Amino acid sequence: TIGMIAIDKDGKISCGTSTNGARNKIPGRVGDSPIPGSGCYVDRNVGGAAATGDGDVMMRLLPALISVEKMRDGYSPEEASRMSLQRIIDYYPNFEGAIVSASLDGRHGGACNGFTTFQYSLADSENGVTTVDVSCS
Ligand code: ASP
Repeated sequence: TIGMIAIDKDGKISCGTSTNGARNKIPGRVGDSPIPGSGCYVDRNVGGAAATGDGDVMMRLLPALISVEKMRDGYSPEEASRMSLQRIIDYYPNFEGAIVSASLDGRHGGACNGFTTFQYSLADSENGVTTVDVSCS
């Protein structure tokens, strides 16, 4: 999956998600990518999140929506990411996946489960593109 969250200079926010289409490309499968709240989600008053992992699990537990709602409740993007993944892990302890979240004020963070580390890229006009490393718990 490639997941993206974009925030423009006026604070307008959007997200997009692709799917790998290789392992999971069976005829008729929808997957998580086009499902709002599953592959990604934004709220113009809060921020956004984009997730990767087993889409058939993610469709049931809407990690991107959960993360945005946690940020709305005041949690940092990193905390919100962790909490949204934990919701999945509660039901699917072996879930392998990751999520990245960004708040409208420019904070960002991620969480992952089932592997050791996860990286996401950050691009802004001041610093160009940088890479952020996340340790999975
Ligand atoms: N979420 C994708 C899917 O299940 C897979 C992935 O994240 O690579 O279609």
